[in-house]
Amino acid sequence: MAITQLPPVHDCAVEGCSYNADHECHAGAINIMGGAEAGCATFIDISVSGGLPTATAMVGACHRTDCTHNDHLECHADSIRVGPGADPADCLTYEVA
Ligand code: SF4
Repeated sequence: MAITQLPPVHDCAVEGCSYNADHECHAGAINIMGGAEAGCATFIDISVSGGLPTATAMVGACHRTDCTHNDHLECHADSIRVGPGADPADCLTYEVA
């Protein structure tokens, strides 16, 4: 998979994140964590707005190896959705294989 083929974050409902503008994630890329849930490791809630103004984030890496879309620690979904879940920001496309 080439970097340009990484899945985009289709939408993000985490309004408190510094990378979120109008339900779009503007980080260059995000990482999804392993552990109990599929938490977004890029989520940060500070007073600074960040990211790239015209970019939509890609999924750079994912540690959720039990997800049906995960292969070799990379996401192969067409796109993902992020929003509040068990954590303030979770991958909502996470699906146990
Ligand atoms: S859909 Fe699955 S593999 Fe893709 S980012 Fe979410 S948890 Fe990771």
